[in-house]
Amino acid sequence: MYKNLLVPIALDHSRDTSSAIDIARALASEGATITALTVIEEVPAQVAHYLPPDHGKTLLAELTTALKAELGGVQDVKPVVVRGHAGRTIVDYAKEHDVDCIVIASHRPGLSDYLIGSTANRVVRHAPCAVHVVR
Ligand code: ADP
Repeated sequence: MYKNLLVPIALDHSRDTSSAIDIARALASEGATITALTVIEEVPAQVAHYLPPDHGKTLLAELTTALKAELGGVQDVKPVVVRGHAGRTIVDYAKEHDVDCIVIASHRPGLSDYLIGSTANRVVRHAPCAVHVVR
């Protein structure tokens, strides 16, 4: 159905990554690309000042390893870790990479079913493509 799917992944262990990936696979046409994207939120400048100079690089490497582990070593999903603001960066990534479907959880598990998280909300409002919201 879709050729280029994006699954944003927040690495905080309370989320069910595999079901979002399974949904992306079900929505994918043959030969489609599936990308798992984790956004590292920027540290405020006054905090960054106290961190070691290579902190950013180390964090990027560590979170790339963590994302691969979260995906369980699957071969059909490309892990990508970038820095930025979660909601804005997911939308920008989708625009820049011609994504045609984003699969995103509505919110953290355990929150009210009436709520939609701030990241999911921003993605639904501003995405340039279809968005599948997982409840
Ligand atoms: P909540 O505030 O309940 O955590 P969010 O809207 O932040 O709700 O999270 C919903 C979904 O948005 C997550 O399951 C994930 O798919 C995506 N998301 C949130 N933060 C990030 C992030 N830093 N990187 C990638 N995806 C994210």
